[in-house]
Amino acid sequence: MTALRALPIDNAGNEGPVDEVAFLAEVRAFLAVELTSDLREAGRNTLGVHADIDACRIWHRRLYEHGWIAPSWPKAWGGTGWTARQRFLFDTECVRNDAPVLFAGGIRSLGPLLIEMGSPAQRARYLPSILSGENLWCQGFSEPGAGSDLAAVSTRAVRRGDRYVVNGSKIWTTGAHHASHMFAIVRTADGEKRQQGMTFLLIDMASPGLTVKPIIGLAGDHEFNAVFFDDVEVPVDNRVGPENDGWTVAKRLMSLARSNNTPAALVGRVLRRTALAVAAAGEALEPSVRTRLAGLQIEHEAFTRFELDALPSGLAQAGPGMTPSMLKLIGSELHQRVAELAMAVAGPLAAADLSVVGRPDLALSDGARATAKHLSVRAASIYSGTSETQRNVIARQLLG
Ligand SMILES: Cc1cc2nc3c(=O)[nH]c(=O)nc-3n(C[C@H](O)[C@H](O)[C@H](O)COP(=O)(O)OP(=O)(O)OC[C@H]3O[C@@H](n4cnc5c(N)ncnc54)[C@H](O)[C@@H]3O)c2cc1C
Repeated sequence: MTALRALPIDNAGNEGPVDEVAFLAEVRAFLAVELTSDLREAGRNTLGVHADIDACRIWHRRLYEHGWIAPSWPKAWGGTGWTARQRFLFDTECVRNDAPVLFAGGIRSLGPLLIEMGSPAQRARYLPSILSGENLWCQGFSEPGAGSDLAAVSTRAVRRGDRYVVNGSKIWTTGAHHASHMFAIVRTADGEKRQQGMTFLLIDMASPGLTVKPIIGLAGDHEFNAVFFDDVEVPVDNRVGPENDGWTVAKRLMSLARSNNTPAALVGRVLRRTALAVAAAGEALEPSVRTRLAGLQIEHEAFTRFELDALPSGLAQAGPGMTPSMLKLIGSELHQRVAELAMAVAGPLAAADLSVVGRPDLALSDGARATAKHLSVRAASIYSGTSETQRNVIARQLLG
């Protein structure tokens, strides 16, 4: 990592030393051809945690066909073999070019978990279709009454022969209406500690008895859902790890997912668009808006360098500690402040009609996009662990 610290990282296209020039040229050449204008448009219009699902599927396929869909997976399993620094550069380049944000629970979370903890049969069965994008995976952890306090999960699975029979419900399940499969934690026993007695299952969304109901978000978009299980049968072979030890598996999955995330790139997307809007507005804007933008750009630069220093160099290093919590906390709150500034830049136009949100056939005005993004990004300090719970983790580590 020492050499990396000396490298320039900025949003203006500066390149690193010679050994990275060829890599960046290759990435840029690929994006110039494969990232067509409709995909860029879908990337720009992203409000929530992923782009329009059709654009996601097309972009996923193109990356897969080029061998670039799973940058963090080991090469032997279909990964790219890139260093953490290359992954970072690739993500940054995708942001600069408005690539669609993928619906990537399989690539980012489940794939790395199966490589580490799945059975040989599970790897053979699921990894190829995660890579190709044929199967999309959603995450079934949260339940009514079990969010930050995940150990309160009460969806129950009872074993009958070679099957589990699942009853209960999950909530806030992003993309359950697009996904072919769900990875979930369910209760299989009432242990002395609540964390004991949970089991990690892989569930086919087409299973009889499974129902998905939409939940409409603050911006008017349909991204997450409630999922109901009514005697849903899941083969015992679809259990990852031992029965009643799903907590360990789920914790590892969350740790891997956080390590495969690049929050600075996500924030950079909104910041870049806001800076373009400020430039376009010219003198019409109050000077204080420019000052706020400059402040956020400096914070983003510092955050980017922090993230770069913190990047694990491989799956094995994705471990506990307070750094993932710091990245999540700083990234999501910075994201929200940038989205607020974008609303200020839009001015009165931000009071726009949001009825076109979720209608890919209708273009969002800049004002509507700024407002919808602001409303959507409120969720960033809630999903994947709320800001309060991240602060708890950091405080525990700092104070012992
Ligand atoms: C956009 C979005 C997408 C999501 N996608 C998914 C998904 O795909 N799959 C999935 O399983 N879940 C998903 N979630 C759910 C998310 O993980 C939960 O919302 C989150 O864990 C918080 O749980 P909760 O909503 O039950 O709130 P609660 O846990 O009830 O929290 C309510 C408030 O109390 C605070 N609080 C709770 N405990 C403490 C504490 N110990 N100390 C201090 N403050 C505390 C919280 O910070 C929060 O402000 C998603 C959520 C959102 C918003």
